[in-house]
Amino acid sequence: MIDEETGGTALPERGMAAERVLDEIRLLRGRDRPTHGGRLFAYVYDPAVPGLDELAAAAHAQSAHVNGLDPTAFPSLLAMENALVGAAGRLLGGGPGSAAPDVVGSVTGGGTESLILAVKAARDAHPEITAPRLVVPSSAHAAFAKAAHYLRVALDVVPVPPDTLRADPAAMAAAIGPDTVLVACSAPSYAHGVVDPVAEIAAVAAEAGRRCHVDACFGGWTLPYLRRLGAPVPPFDFTVPGVTSVSVDLHKYAYAPKGVSVLLHRDPALRAPQYFAYADWPGYTMINPTIASTRSGGPIAAAYATLRHLGDDGYLRLAATTRDAVAGLADAVRAVDGLRLMAEPESTVVCFTTTDPALDLFVLVDELTLRGWHTQPQLTYAGLPASVHLTVTAAVAPRVAEFGPALADAVAAARAAGPVALPPDLLALAGALTPDALTPGLVAGLAAGLGLGGGAGVGSAGAGPLPERMAPVNALLDAAPPAVRERLLVEFVGLLQRPAW
Ligand SMILES: *Cc1c(COP(=O)(O)O)cnc(C)c1O
Repeated sequence: MIDEETGGTALPERGMAAERVLDEIRLLRGRDRPTHGGRLFAYVYDPAVPGLDELAAAAHAQSAHVNGLDPTAFPSLLAMENALVGAAGRLLGGGPGSAAPDVVGSVTGGGTESLILAVKAARDAHPEITAPRLVVPSSAHAAFAKAAHYLRVALDVVPVPPDTLRADPAAMAAAIGPDTVLVACSAPSYAHGVVDPVAEIAAVAAEAGRRCHVDACFGGWTLPYLRRLGAPVPPFDFTVPGVTSVSVDLHKYAYAPKGVSVLLHRDPALRAPQYFAYADWPGYTMINPTIASTRSGGPIAAAYATLRHLGDDGYLRLAATTRDAVAGLADAVRAVDGLRLMAEPESTVVCFTTTDPALDLFVLVDELTLRGWHTQPQLTYAGLPASVHLTVTAAVAPRVAEFGPALADAVAAARAAGPVALPPDLLALAGALTPDALTPGLVAGLAAGLGLGGGAGVGSAGAGPLPERMAPVNALLDAAPPAVRERLLVEFVGLLQRPAW
């Protein structure tokens, strides 16, 4: 048993045999959601290509101890990064012979880092603007809010019309002011999978002399292939005049292991303020394109190996498989009375909501989980209903035929169970609270009432830190305004993240 061996700590008194350590990790991993098998619709991106995991792991191992801190010391990483940036740049409308021949970029640790750096580059290009602002549609990824927060850039959020869920170019234009340093949009949005009208938004940004970032973190690696397969994908990349930067996550639909994204700029001058250089200390001169300084070569080598192995033809094939899976899942949703697609799928997301008050989406999510299907609930927001998000990857295709009956069955069970009924005083509390009123004691009481925060250590037995049913937690969060949701989440997750001694 793990707990007898380690007492829950990562530092046992005596070192353990390698095999036993790996056994432990295997045991722990057994409690995770399944990363393969096509039944997990968030967090992981699985092409179900035999041998790809092994290849990526071998490449990762070869470069894990190489440091991206200094490209002159480790030219292998420089070469692989340049190759990844070149591949992404070409896929997204740049490179020799294109309308954007001077595209350059950086390999970052993930989509959030790419977006923070896009905002930093835009901010630092204008040192004369003392209170810089960023304009985004309300459908933009939360990472823009994080970037704005970290960088002290004010965020101007422009609501998306609830019928299209797409950014409104006229409203975006109206939000641009003298201190705006960047206008951003998505291709596609994560929540609903719809592509913003990039050409119109880039035009209004260019007209105002502002940078325009296209967040293609999610779909940048699939939209070009879906278009080649005949889908009506509008221009969204460097082919669009006025687009100054584009981000694409390789650890999403390029199917690379986690920790790798690419941020592209139309030309080197646009990228220059992204760098941080420092020579005013007695140590080595520092020059970083990214937030992290020391960076493992592992994810970069793994991504390089993944792209080389799958190749352009492989990604085209995987996009076709994924497109068919999306169509099948959307049909399954349409076939169920009481469910409605939030948007007609145009990328690799299927997102649906309920039209029947007796069918509680959060209960449905739990019923699907109990049947082995892991979906992602999205809370109500600014006039948009709660929804269920499915990120669809190629691995889902063989499961599509099973999904329809499972969904129908889960819907019937959710109807039979009825909506979550939280005690009225609890709901009233959630709705009325201000974040400051949430004392640690109050939150601990709430968490205990919801079954959150049990044993979470390596050796803990039993149900673990989360209740089997999350619907009451989601219902409580859903009843609260965003600022209270944020505070509750911080407190709840803080209860989970406790040292194992
Ligand atoms: C995933 C995602 C991000 C953030 O990426 P991370 O890799 O999770 O940091 C940003 N934008 C969009 C559209 C995304 O889908």
